[in-house]
Amino acid sequence: MIITIDGPAGAGKSTVAKALALRLGYRYLDTGAMYRAVTYVALMSKQDAVAVAQGSAWVDHLADPALRSDEVDAAVSAVAGLLEVRVAMRDEQRRFLAEGDAVAEGRDIGSVVWPQAELKVWLDATPAERQRRRAAERGEEAGATALARDRQDAAQMIVPHDSVRLETDGLGVSEVIEQIVILVGQRA
Ligand code: C5P
Repeated sequence: MIITIDGPAGAGKSTVAKALALRLGYRYLDTGAMYRAVTYVALMSKQDAVAVAQGSAWVDHLADPALRSDEVDAAVSAVAGLLEVRVAMRDEQRRFLAEGDAVAEGRDIGSVVWPQAELKVWLDATPAERQRRRAAERGEEAGATALARDRQDAAQMIVPHDSVRLETDGLGVSEVIEQIVILVGQRA
């Protein structure tokens, strides 16, 4: 089964998607990390982001803590807005998902990348809550840029018509996971 978890920055996608994959024994795909890795390599090497996306050097940085820097946060939306970059990333994402059971998180996974997913979750939280979470994780500046990034990412944030929307304000990670596990059970 493919489960997609899409939504804005600070909605809790990474925490929830990782824990859910672990719980189900599924593979985990962090598509935001892919766009961040391309952005990071383009910034470091001063290369064109499209050329970076079409190459393979970015793959070595998928787990690099530098992907979460303020510099990458500030630049990633513009890189992710380039059509050729998206085409290259979506090809990679589809290759990964074609291999079977996975939890994939991002912005456009249930809508564009894998619309045939068995379960699509749109994870959301109020702007105040999303800013608060980012600020708690990474400082005040990151809190403010998370909301600015959502505005820049608006074109990529497509709510699938057949997704289940979960509003996570006031919910703990384990409560969100329990709700998704129930949905998985209904579709199995
Ligand atoms: O999820 P995360 O905040 O790590 O994503 C980083 C950036 O990557 C987003 O702000 C967005 O610009 C881009 N992104 C995207 N499509 C996805 C996942 C992420 O455009 N599926």
